[in-house]
Amino acid sequence: MNYTVEEKEAFMREALREAEIALEHDEIPIGCVIVKDGEIIGRGHNAREELQRAVMHAEIMAIENANLSEESWRLLDCTLFVTIEPCVMCSGAIGLARIPNVVYGAKNQKFGAAGSLYDILTDERLNHRVEVETGVLESECAAIMQDFFRNRRKK
Ligand SMILES: [Zn+2]
Repeated sequence: MNYTVEEKEAFMREALREAEIALEHDEIPIGCVIVKDGEIIGRGHNAREELQRAVMHAEIMAIENANLSEESWRLLDCTLFVTIEPCVMCSGAIGLARIPNVVYGAKNQKFGAAGSLYDILTDERLNHRVEVETGVLESECAAIMQDFFRNRRKK
């Protein structure tokens, strides 16, 4: 992955824009973009409430969109940017799609499977290993989640 800090932050800002779409539907604000050769080829946001689909996490929607635009299930040479650490399901899906690089903003201590609870993306027992980078726009990515949960508790 040969993106500069500025480029990574710009792509994470696009993922944050997706998170804001989730927020408009009053759901957990997580967003994702998949980038190939500097171009966004897939976008997604958590849409569990909007679509009433249990598995429609941001990463899954972005992978589906990227598969469609690439006309391929393999997303080689791609980097996935997601605002929050991927869960077990999404980490599995990243491996299945053969995505080699993942950048995430903030950790998810309760559900994270890319370093927090589990480390599926870099587990040497699995045949697909991913290069993972964390902490890009971490405070913005965490803040949108914290605001969401704070407001939800007030309701
Ligand atoms: Zn997930």
